[in-house]
Amino acid sequence: MKPSQNVPPQNPEKSKKSIWDYESIVGRRPLEYLEMLAENITGNVQHINATYTGGGVAEILTRLVPLYNGLGVETKWNVIRGDDEFFSVTKGFHNALHGSLDGLTDVRMYAPHGTPDDIRSRVGRLEMKHDIFETYLRWNEINSEEMDVDGDFVFMHDPQPAAMIRAKEGGKWIWRCHIDVSSPDRLVWNFLKKFVSKYDASVFSAPLFARPDIHTRKFLVPPSIDPLSDKNIELSEGEIDKVLERYEITRDKPTIVQVSRFDRLKDIPGTIDAYKLVKERIDCQLILAGGVASDDPEGLEVHHEIAKKAEGDPDVHVLLGSPPFTEIEINAFQRAADVIMQKSLKEGFGLVVSEGLWKGKPVVGGATGGIPLQIIDGVTGYLVSSSEEAAYHIANLLKHPELARRLGENGREHVRNNFLITRHLKDHLLLMLSLGDPSGIVE
Ligand code: UDP
Repeated sequence: MKPSQNVPPQNPEKSKKSIWDYESIVGRRPLEYLEMLAENITGNVQHINATYTGGGVAEILTRLVPLYNGLGVETKWNVIRGDDEFFSVTKGFHNALHGSLDGLTDVRMYAPHGTPDDIRSRVGRLEMKHDIFETYLRWNEINSEEMDVDGDFVFMHDPQPAAMIRAKEGGKWIWRCHIDVSSPDRLVWNFLKKFVSKYDASVFSAPLFARPDIHTRKFLVPPSIDPLSDKNIELSEGEIDKVLERYEITRDKPTIVQVSRFDRLKDIPGTIDAYKLVKERIDCQLILAGGVASDDPEGLEVHHEIAKKAEGDPDVHVLLGSPPFTEIEINAFQRAADVIMQKSLKEGFGLVVSEGLWKGKPVVGGATGGIPLQIIDGVTGYLVSSSEEAAYHIANLLKHPELARRLGENGREHVRNNFLITRHLKDHLLLMLSLGDPSGIVE
């Protein structure tokens, strides 16, 4: 049994960060308010998720934890471990919770590495069902035994560690769901519901993501980006060029960029199809930069499929970050874009959209998950449901740079007002205050 190889990229608990670094971006008053809220928090905080690297949750925690500590709210971050089988199962849960997608749920859930027919011919559905739930529970139990879960406020992120609630002894436990679970696969949801219903509260990224059939207190907290991270700071044209040269990409033609994990739900083939339609009219190039999260066993297979689809076109750059791209590299790819694409079929929040908008880029994105919170259609970008629609808007933006600039500017302000890390911190502090004293003495 191979445990997951998962080490923190840095030690966010030790690196305290001051909220006052953000004054020039958000002004003084929100920061004073944060200090006032933090002074009123009694108890420490613990975040638990499934990976230190790759994907939006890891990204958010890397940035948030040092800010909590800088505010004097003692906060630690732990990651569960599991073997390949466990992460195949939880990836299956992830897809299943996002909802059925033409058999995709079945494939991913019951046979992460095979087709539904393969699996059905090998083993009955019920037998597999038993196996996946048993694997999930066994690893949740192992993690409960191995990990000190002693936070006064415990934020449990997503389904992977959700069943650790069975070992709860004290404190306030919050299930932080980053997934759109509004129309989930029933089998998986009914199983998970038993655990998430036991939490003191649940948190969703968008109103539509929540489920009516869990009766804990529910909070709405959209995710955020950190404008001071290397991923989002300003870069000079020279710095952008330097990164692109490393990957043998020149900036001599209009550039479309999609940064996302190699995951079927990100619809990278749909982005390639949109690019091909644009290319018939405008000579342009496409950068598809992505990585594979340590808790995602499908990534390499998806990368292989994408590389195959792009074969033969020198203007499609399929870049696999292995080791993962640095933050500066991701930043440079996004800043090299004339238009950013995020043609997801299903999405949690879609942090890459805010990252693109913050950089003043118009974003064309799938009308799914948290993307419509970020893309105000026709104001900060365009919401699309097909590659044809995406191609129409991309071509229009490439032909009208003034329009692209205006949408990008709007997007940056939209992110400043709604999706920066300081607002996220405020929401967490308010949430903890509203849950009351974790010792249970004051409610
Ligand atoms: N990301 C990255 N390297 C990659 C691909 C993605 O650092 O190769 C980052 C991306 O910049 C963003 C996060 O991972 O910060 C992805 O978050 P999002 O919410 O868009 O999608 P998720 O991966 O959580 O489904």
